[in-house]
Amino acid sequence: MSAEKAESDMEYSDSDGSEAGYEDYYNCQPWGDADNEVEKADQTRRDPEYAIHDCLRVEEVERLLNENVEVLSNSLHITPSLAKVLLHTHDWALQEVMTKYRDNASSLLISSRIKPSQPPDPTSASKGRKGGTCTVCMALFNPDKFATLTCGHSFCKDCWCMHFEVQITQGISTDIGCMAQNCEVLVPEDFVLQLLTKPSMRDKYQHFAFRDYVKSHPQLRFCPGPNCQIVMRSKELRAKRVQCQACRTVFCLRCGTDYHAPTDCNIIKKWLTKCADDSETSNYISAHTKDCPKCHVCIEKNGGCNHMQCYGCKAEFCWMCLNDWKAHGSEYYECSRYKDNPNIGNESVHAQAREALKKYLHYYERWENHSKSLKLEEQTLEKMKSRINQKVMDASGTWIDWQHLFEAASLLARCRYTLQYTYPYAYYMESGPRKALFEYQQAQLEAEIENLSWKIERAETTDRGDLENQMDIAEKRRQTLLKDFLESDEPSDKLLHP
Ligand SMILES: [Zn+2]
Ligand SMILES: [Zn+2]
Ligand SMILES: [Zn+2]
Ligand SMILES: [Zn+2]
Ligand SMILES: [Zn+2]
Ligand SMILES: [Zn+2]
Repeated sequence: MSAEKAESDMEYSDSDGSEAGYEDYYNCQPWGDADNEVEKADQTRRDPEYAIHDCLRVEEVERLLNENVEVLSNSLHITPSLAKVLLHTHDWALQEVMTKYRDNASSLLISSRIKPSQPPDPTSASKGRKGGTCTVCMALFNPDKFATLTCGHSFCKDCWCMHFEVQITQGISTDIGCMAQNCEVLVPEDFVLQLLTKPSMRDKYQHFAFRDYVKSHPQLRFCPGPNCQIVMRSKELRAKRVQCQACRTVFCLRCGTDYHAPTDCNIIKKWLTKCADDSETSNYISAHTKDCPKCHVCIEKNGGCNHMQCYGCKAEFCWMCLNDWKAHGSEYYECSRYKDNPNIGNESVHAQAREALKKYLHYYERWENHSKSLKLEEQTLEKMKSRINQKVMDASGTWIDWQHLFEAASLLARCRYTLQYTYPYAYYMESGPRKALFEYQQAQLEAEIENLSWKIERAETTDRGDLENQMDIAEKRRQTLLKDFLESDEPSDKLLHP
């Protein structure tokens, strides 16, 4: 290996104190960023969760929006500002707006709360400027000091400016309406900017307006990463996974929260709200130690794997249910499934409430446990890095020789992450054959992930072929589950914004 190569490989050991997150795992091969369309299409085929997307900078988004504004403004012979209001109030459906309004511009303009810039209707014009005064401050009419909106309502420029500043201070921009009572006409951008005098207010207005345009655009979403300016664009509107190229944040394209397949956006929201509401009840679950079911010695869980081995009596058991591990490794892994009480309908209200809590805790405990395992496995990976670093320094192998361990660890994280999000899905699922199938696949994935985790914790002594085989099985299980329970979701017509 060349000296140059050795140096770049050493980057793996580069510990800058920052913790490896889920983002870093997702960024690992085989699913790094695809650079061109062919690669992206290929990535979608391989990975059912992935959505083809572009990370756009603010200027690129502005250019994209302005192109549409220009087309519409030319086609309907209206000002770019009015075209912008029209597009914004119609979710940027350019073609739709064009066909709908081409022959009947005035009707459409009114329905979208804009009126065309035509000679003001004398009856409406008098509403704002009563007897030649501004009805807000009673100033006498002066053509230089008054401004008339497209609806014909006229007020003095100072009052308009004050009105805009009050609205902007409340975070309102594209939704600023006319000052006249009962007039719903929206004030277009050029009218606002022409009357706003303070540069700080103009900046705020433009900032808020841009935010509103992005939010009303069905294909755009702001990256939720802290202080990140990137806007994601995708034609795919399902709950799929995207990653910001600037800040590396991985999130759900549709709802913008932590990525959550196979659970859908509404269910995950419901689940997270429930967990927050019930946090007191579930807090006791945070135990890091349990007693060995055989010799009762106290065992601490310091790795991600739920397949435990007692350091005293060597008994192998499951961390979640404390049963013999043998029952877990075999055909049907029972630990993930919650067994409903078939007679619960006949029980008392108290018994039913207890049963409901028991059921919730079953799912919550597993959800929480996988989340913890993910963190513990990050630590395992860190420890592994330093051990391998030592080996490389002692000249027993190179980083390339050990790279498969990192691939295994990132694959494990990906699988465990999916598994974690199967629990809210199962919790809200109706009983029946589909739930039975889901739970079967969940159990299979659970079993293979624990096998993989067990092998990775002993990776330096595990046979490489054996490890790679286990990786392959686990990933296939994950993909099967996602294919069966993700792609049946109907695509939506718009991204969800809070
Ligand atoms: Zn006034
Ligand atoms: Zn008006
Ligand atoms: Zn970002
Ligand atoms: Zn979502
Ligand atoms: Zn023991
Ligand atoms: Zn178990």
